[in-house]
Amino acid sequence: MNDLQPIQFPGVDTRRPLLITGPCSAETEEQTLRTARELAAEGFRIFRAGLWKPRTKPGGFEGVGAEGLAWLRRVKRETGMYTATEVATRGHVAAAIDGGVDLLWIGARTAANPFAMQEIADALRGQEVPVLIKNPVSPDLELWIGAIERIRNAGIRRLGAIHRGFSSIDRSLYRNHPIWSIPIELRRRLPGLPIFCDPSHIGGKRELIAPLAQQAMDLGFDGLVVEAHSNPDLAWSDKSQQVTPQTLAYIVRNLILREMNTTTESLNELRSQIDKLDDQLLDLLAHRMRVSREIGQYKKEHAMPVLQTQRYEELLSRRAAQAVGMGMDREFMRSVLQAIHEESIRQQMEVLKVKSEK
Ligand code: PEP
Ligand code: MN
Repeated sequence: MNDLQPIQFPGVDTRRPLLITGPCSAETEEQTLRTARELAAEGFRIFRAGLWKPRTKPGGFEGVGAEGLAWLRRVKRETGMYTATEVATRGHVAAAIDGGVDLLWIGARTAANPFAMQEIADALRGQEVPVLIKNPVSPDLELWIGAIERIRNAGIRRLGAIHRGFSSIDRSLYRNHPIWSIPIELRRRLPGLPIFCDPSHIGGKRELIAPLAQQAMDLGFDGLVVEAHSNPDLAWSDKSQQVTPQTLAYIVRNLILREMNTTTESLNELRSQIDKLDDQLLDLLAHRMRVSREIGQYKKEHAMPVLQTQRYEELLSRRAAQAVGMGMDREFMRSVLQAIHEESIRQQMEVLKVKSEK
């Protein structure tokens, strides 16, 4: 994705993190304006508010819909903040763009549905608006990448991802499990793509916003999307995860931002130790494969099968137990040994093939 353009707005600080803040939902004109004014007074510059709310069951507050577009325009006029809202259908896209919304995001339930994503992508074709795509509700990286690609293929160049955690049947501290390895892998797969973290929807509780936002910063995320409400306890949706604009400003002030590409002397030293150890590991592996090929030859000469299950099982459990004793995870060691064994078998098969072809 090297043709992407940065998500920047005139007058908005380009330093990390880019902050998008505002209530889960626009409820009334009064609540929307009051929250925006308080956020603007704290220096926040991009205002989020859901107008169309995806609800798990019918009957909950499903958002004010297109009526709220005029409220967002008022926010922009009166506070100078840029505005953002969630879109889930082609109708939402058209209404939001006509209504002058500055940034669109696609929610987790929508991102999980390729038909909906394609419909939105088609509606976005030819538009300039920046778009952020939340991860799908299930921990499926390919589905997330697919959703992002559909929007990119529609010609949107100011593109980003929002990590909002993944639903799980396991009860846990979080409303949605962060599974940080997934956004980290997303970064590896799509290196130029800005990644935001939404600590509100991951945590589900206001106390978790600060530690999750800090973790996201430590992992090099580019921005944060955080829910803030002028009176969180009275919010019509997601009230336990919303904070006041003042609390949010306090949280942001206390974030520690580590420079991502400065490396200290001692870090360099440790990294060069790792490089040397990796060299040794590779030499050892190559040596082991050589011995393994000799065994292959022996097996061939004595008409023995390549795979000897009992020996393999013994080796696996003995080494896994040994690894635990050395402070490593049993499953980790089993996967390492399985991978080595697979390559070993492949090499022995090669030996057998060459011999029998002669
Ligand atoms: C939201 O941002 O308010 C929202 C509905 O989020 P998600 O799609 O992550 O559940
Ligand atoms: Mn919400």
